[in-house]
Amino acid sequence: MHPIIIIGSGLAGYSLAREFRKLDKDTPLRIITADDGRAYPKPMLSNALTSGKQPEQLATADAVQMSVQLNAVIDTHARVTAIDTAQHTLTVNGKDIHYARLVLALGADVIRLPMQGDAADAVMSINDLADYTRFRQIISGAKNVAIIGAGLIGCEFANDLRNAGMTVDVIAPSKAPLERLLPETAGRALQQGLTDLGVNWHLEKTVTHVNHGGRSCASCAPGTCTSMCGADNAYRLTLSDGSTLETDAVLSCVGLRSRTALAQAAGLQVHHGIVVNRLLAASAPDVYALGDCAEVDGLVLLYVMPLMNAARALAKTLAGQPTPVVYPAMPVVIKTPAHPVVVSPPPLGIAGEWRIETPEGGVRALFFDAQSKLRGFAVTGSMVGEKNALAKEIPALLQ
Ligand SMILES: Cc1cc2nc3c(=O)[nH]c(=O)nc-3n(C[C@H](O)[C@H](O)[C@H](O)COP(=O)(O)OP(=O)(O)OC[C@H]3O[C@@H](n4cnc5c(N)ncnc54)[C@H](O)[C@@H]3O)c2cc1C
Repeated sequence: MHPIIIIGSGLAGYSLAREFRKLDKDTPLRIITADDGRAYPKPMLSNALTSGKQPEQLATADAVQMSVQLNAVIDTHARVTAIDTAQHTLTVNGKDIHYARLVLALGADVIRLPMQGDAADAVMSINDLADYTRFRQIISGAKNVAIIGAGLIGCEFANDLRNAGMTVDVIAPSKAPLERLLPETAGRALQQGLTDLGVNWHLEKTVTHVNHGGRSCASCAPGTCTSMCGADNAYRLTLSDGSTLETDAVLSCVGLRSRTALAQAAGLQVHHGIVVNRLLAASAPDVYALGDCAEVDGLVLLYVMPLMNAARALAKTLAGQPTPVVYPAMPVVIKTPAHPVVVSPPPLGIAGEWRIETPEGGVRALFFDAQSKLRGFAVTGSMVGEKNALAKEIPALLQ
């Protein structure tokens, strides 16, 4: 009997496996993953310093423990390079493996902005535990970090690194943080909270060049520091207005894009993500997708709550009870304790307007559609306590 194969051991792959095993203890299950198969809560990467965790402490189980827990074969450091949906096979390390049903839980790729300069390659990004482990090595002993991007992940890292005592500079082209999620007033409130914590902002600017040798120490001539003095680790960033900035490390947080190349090469329908219907079924028989790689009924939502809902529904479908996924309103909590934010963005493209109030210590922004129905909200600071009541008023995204 061929197994159900899940590609990916992130929150989507492992949540699905857990939910499936609650319903079916015996059907052969195989998880194939390009990484080391450790289970970890990815959202904690951006508040690990504040919570006093080393990267390895974020892992809750290794691949061997997960294999026992899930009664599954787990292939680690195994990258799937091709899928043949007609033959029901996939290719790993040059070998073809048969599947009965296949689930793609491939995650997303970080977006990389083109930058010039002799240290452009030193710009880091963080999208998994291995990236984060490298980042922590690089910033050990560092005093400053420059963050490119003022979205959810950039702001969370800014808060976390500042809490750890680093000097933090955030560079972004937007007028205010979280431009794609929040109305400007709410973004400004978050910006003020992080400013009060000591974050430096360089908004309405981009980074054009990243070069080595931003800083020189007392004993070397400018630009000639060696590893002996330690200052050669510093970088000089040039911004779009010609200003410069010196820093020990550069972290790019400019966004993520669903990982679709493998599916596309297999002939599956792909748009912004791997296109699936409410049963999480892709465009070929017995192939499904969930998590950051999936576009579910037109929605690409790169958050935990949607993938948990998808995992529960798909587990039932795989266990023989076809179940469409339901998306209730799923507010996103931004982990910026300097000024907390909770947002339930209105559905993309919907006509309407934000109505904004600024009571003491926070912002309450409510998005009403053309029929004056509440379709989204953003609450910050002293207003975040209203999130549950507001979430109940918002219609489900997928009912
Ligand atoms: C720093 C950070 C903070 C975040 N904070 C929040 C938050 O507070 N709240 C929230 O809701 N969301 C948050 N998110 C988003 C959330 O973590 C993700 O939506 C979620 O973890 C995605 O899980 P996934 O399983 O879809 O993808 P991933 O965790 O990326 O897993 C993808 C898996 O696929 C494997 N893979 C890919 N290609 C192949 C291949 N060809 N062959 C074999 N294996 C392959 C990878 O090795 C990996 O195991 C955050 C994200 C980041 C980066």
